[in-house]
Amino acid sequence: MSDLRVSRVGRVVSEGVTDFITRQVPSPADDSVVIRIKASALCGSDLHIFKAKHPSVPLPATIGHEFSGDIVEVGKHVRGLTPGDRVTVEPCVACGVCEACLHGEYGSCDQLSFIYRKGDGAMADYIMVKASSVYRLPDSLSYEAGALIEPLAVAVHAVRRADIRIGESVLVLGAGAIGLLVAALAKRMGAAEVIVSDYSAFRLDMARTLGATRTVNPGAGDSLEDAVAAATAGKGVDKTLECVGREETMIQAMTLLKKKGLATVVGIFENPQVTIPVMRLVNHEIRIQGSQGYCWDFPIALKMAGEIDLEGMVTHRFPLEGLQQALETALDRTQNTIKIVLKP
Ligand SMILES: [Zn+2]
Ligand SMILES: [Zn+2]
Repeated sequence: MSDLRVSRVGRVVSEGVTDFITRQVPSPADDSVVIRIKASALCGSDLHIFKAKHPSVPLPATIGHEFSGDIVEVGKHVRGLTPGDRVTVEPCVACGVCEACLHGEYGSCDQLSFIYRKGDGAMADYIMVKASSVYRLPDSLSYEAGALIEPLAVAVHAVRRADIRIGESVLVLGAGAIGLLVAALAKRMGAAEVIVSDYSAFRLDMARTLGATRTVNPGAGDSLEDAVAAATAGKGVDKTLECVGREETMIQAMTLLKKKGLATVVGIFENPQVTIPVMRLVNHEIRIQGSQGYCWDFPIALKMAGEIDLEGMVTHRFPLEGLQQALETALDRTQNTIKIVLKP
């Protein structure tokens, strides 16, 4: 049943330059499936690669790891998946034998990588992946929504780590895709106040649509301190989630917490050395933790996906051959972008 499949595979060759290679897609390995990609979303990490600034991805590199599609062929040991299934994929690759993996903590694997870093980017017509990383999409989810399960899983991981409780006040710094999804989930976890701060009025509108109770635009003269004080009777919030990756927002994540509050850092810091008000840890007994990727969060993301308007976050769509334009659009600050989806 293996017809000859030819796939275009998008790459970043050097800073700001993309191309496509053409590759023959073989029949799947015994434990793998071949997927015909229907929707593939751009992620912030793809932009770091496009700018040649990703610390662990040398160029040229294939890109794309947020995607959905149809299974076209399954390997001979694969059970429970059949051609025609609509699916999405957890794109990380863990070693399976390190201490973290053996404890089921594969998100902390010593050798953690991603399929796109191994040459199998999802800005392509077809991709082969291990069946164990494949999740079936419910009929109610579109391919576009299916492509956004990966960033939703990142947000699920962050809000689970933040341990948000009913009635709490939560401050989300940054309304990019992850910040927006974190805000949406925090509201659904029972937070009474979900305050979102960002410099884009467009993104803050989206934050309110998704469940934010208050939004703050410092660029338009709003005071974040005042908004937090008003929402919490001057005490500070129970939880903050830093979803930007800058010194200014890292400090806000600490200073706008109430005593004994918990800050969760999700943002990727292009400049990883920042100066923080460290005495806050002592005299307010606040806690700071990080959150990276996902670990057993895909099934939860799939269950929550129907409650969040994921398709509404898709602001731009391009055919696969529009990859260069899509990346340039994502970097163009005059465009109101949240999620950009390519459709092979
Ligand atoms: Zn991503
Ligand atoms: Zn491992």
